[in-house]
Amino acid sequence: MCPRMCPRRTLRLETTGVRRRRYSGSLVAVSPSNLASVAVGRPVRGEFTYVVPEGLTGRLSPGQRILVPFGRSMSLGFFLGPATPPPEAESVKLKPIMKVLEDSPSLPPDLIALLRFAAEHYRYPLGEVIKSALPPGLTKAEVEKEAKPDVQEFAVALVTEAPAILRRAPAQSAALAYLLAVGGRAPLEEVAHAIPGARETLRKLVERGLVRIDEEVIAPGVKEGLAQGRPEQLTPEQDAAVKELHTAIDTGGFQPFLLHGVTGSGKTEVYLRAVERALAHGKGSLVLVPEIALTPQLVGRFRSRFGAEVAVLHSGLKDRERLFHWQALRKGTVRIAVGVRSAVFAPVENLGLVVVDEEHDPSFKQEDKLRYQARDLAVVRAKQAGAVVVLGSATPSLETLENTRRGRYRKLELKNRVDDRPMPTISLVDLRQERPREPLVHEEAPILSPPLLDAMAETIAKGQQVILFLNRRGHSTFLICEVCGTSVKCSECDVCLTYHRSQNRVVCHYCGVAHPVPEHCRECTGPLLKMGIGTERVEAEVAERIPQARVARLDRDSATSAERLTEMLASFARREIDVLVGTQMVAKGHDFPGVTLVCVVMADTSLAIPDFRAAERTFHLLTQVAGRAGRGKDPGRVLVQTYNPEADPVKRMLVHDFDGFAQRELERRKVLAWPPYTRMAAVRLEGESAEQTASVARQLGDFITRQMPPASWGVRLLGPALAPISRIRGRTRWQLLLKAPTHAALAPLLARLEAKLVDIPSAVRVTIDVDPAAML
Ligand code: ADP
Ligand code: ZN
Repeated sequence: MCPRMCPRRTLRLETTGVRRRRYSGSLVAVSPSNLASVAVGRPVRGEFTYVVPEGLTGRLSPGQRILVPFGRSMSLGFFLGPATPPPEAESVKLKPIMKVLEDSPSLPPDLIALLRFAAEHYRYPLGEVIKSALPPGLTKAEVEKEAKPDVQEFAVALVTEAPAILRRAPAQSAALAYLLAVGGRAPLEEVAHAIPGARETLRKLVERGLVRIDEEVIAPGVKEGLAQGRPEQLTPEQDAAVKELHTAIDTGGFQPFLLHGVTGSGKTEVYLRAVERALAHGKGSLVLVPEIALTPQLVGRFRSRFGAEVAVLHSGLKDRERLFHWQALRKGTVRIAVGVRSAVFAPVENLGLVVVDEEHDPSFKQEDKLRYQARDLAVVRAKQAGAVVVLGSATPSLETLENTRRGRYRKLELKNRVDDRPMPTISLVDLRQERPREPLVHEEAPILSPPLLDAMAETIAKGQQVILFLNRRGHSTFLICEVCGTSVKCSECDVCLTYHRSQNRVVCHYCGVAHPVPEHCRECTGPLLKMGIGTERVEAEVAERIPQARVARLDRDSATSAERLTEMLASFARREIDVLVGTQMVAKGHDFPGVTLVCVVMADTSLAIPDFRAAERTFHLLTQVAGRAGRGKDPGRVLVQTYNPEADPVKRMLVHDFDGFAQRELERRKVLAWPPYTRMAAVRLEGESAEQTASVARQLGDFITRQMPPASWGVRLLGPALAPISRIRGRTRWQLLLKAPTHAALAPLLARLEAKLVDIPSAVRVTIDVDPAAML
């Protein structure tokens, strides 16, 4: 085959811009006016040039899905706009676009711009970036189909008792009897579940005129939320913030804001009013939240305010639902999208407002494939769409704070809680002095100190509720040898195993493998001591110490599905539970008015993590969880158990001193040249063979050193080094860290590095993580 026929091997040419384009080879004659720039839905870099055949001229608009020849087969492509003619236009023959797969483009212009940015910034193939943004229904090279809305079928009895003619049709008689027994109307699914074959039977009953089938359209992605009215009066601070946002929305254009509001200050109401205003201007809004299942109340508020104008986008949607939302948003029939990080790509029409709630939350960072930070992309998107963007938090990320200090974002502040409710009072329990009482369960030391237990009992006696927060799952965190001090680790991963009492097993939380509890130390056969703490263990201790309390636990082990999670939160809201023990899942933006006591079981657990953000993360978590206390009419209090009462994040959160904490932490970051004063990229390697992985790491290190820009650009390489967790699932992990004063200084090097990855043996997986979050 002529190499020209194969796009993968065609010429690579530099065109006018810096962007490198490839040409798709052969077949149709080229005139400068009929060239199209196309992203191909394959893992290949760059944009490709195709020819628009005569039949398609005038039928193409940017953002459309098309069919193009690629390599030896056909591929899904995305028309991005006209292409500049290649310098050798006459000599290179390009392939034609074969077909247009949809009438109106799937991707609106501001989204194309965002996806191009993401591909460039995060070093990921554009076609793959686009595919990851689209709903599954649009990622195949097929003509677009209209998605049907969710309908639920109901069987409705048209009679009140079974007529005589059914006597010789026992199946129909049974189905009708069921229907009548449940009140004459039931979902078809339910009847079919109760009586096998009922679908067929019911159809016969319909023919006889005894039953009717109703279809009811379920609003897109609706799950019951907690409805709430629109407050008549805003607090003065809310009012001021809303006024500024309204002015910004009225003026139009890109304007970024930080909404820094303490917990319970009514940030959500500010978002709602801003969305109302955008809607009044005929503009759409995009609202990003950390996790839908953890924010049913926020979703409920949006739903009760805007009804069917809201599409709720979360990871539990079925493919068809996803497509349905996409199309509704594209058509502009639904103008508000509320969703998790991937919703940053939702095709909201005529975007006027972008909101990122809890903007500091780590879940906005995607940790595989396209490793993007949705909060950052939200700002870029707003810029490209000319929209107002609001980043809201009680504990803004230091990145956002620094942008505010530099005058890039305007700050709106809510310093007080709604209705002048007081902030909770926070006090420390120094575990070095307040020893928990003698163990009841002999093998383990207890963890709940007397002041904590007394406060809990007192709160429950008043009919109020308690949240116990601990950032670790399981029962005892780890097993340690009493003699030699060796802890029991996973043989495949370089992490300690977690003991789960309910299963009587040790589990690795990285690879998920569970083992029976070992009897003796592998190294010296010494006896093993169960050390540390976990949510499951705390739950057991509460049950034992305060037997009258109704206790439940909320973590990844207990909340196994979104439904289960929603149900647990709802049950707590209905006050069927007195004490909720949990991980950061209990720390998020919940609003439970019955909670007057929040206990942090151990403030130290997240301090010791080898990550430069450990202190920030600790402060965020402690403040967020403390913010769950006293949101109703009764004031709240927070008790924090710790072995490190002197640690800065602990001391500062005690006095609600976010500004002081941020100030000091920013100074520390500046001295050590960490973000937000540097931009970073992590190059991560993972391979079965320890030697090979190490050797590739060194090879990449050498490559980077050779490719280093002039010293004046300030780019620095750290490593290669073994990653802090040096093995996961039996694969050895290495990393290289790049630091530079700006992303621009880093970008050319990253581009060269990405190109280099083609030469790396496939046994070693290398990923580039731009603006990395987790350092483990
Ligand atoms: P935040 O997100 O800042 O922690 P929320 O938005 O959850 O706070 O608001 C806290 C509570 O105050 C909620 O129950 C909310 O309905 C209520 N609230 C908000 N604004 C007002 C207002 N202007 N008047 C009365 N109640 C309000
Ligand atoms: Zn493991």
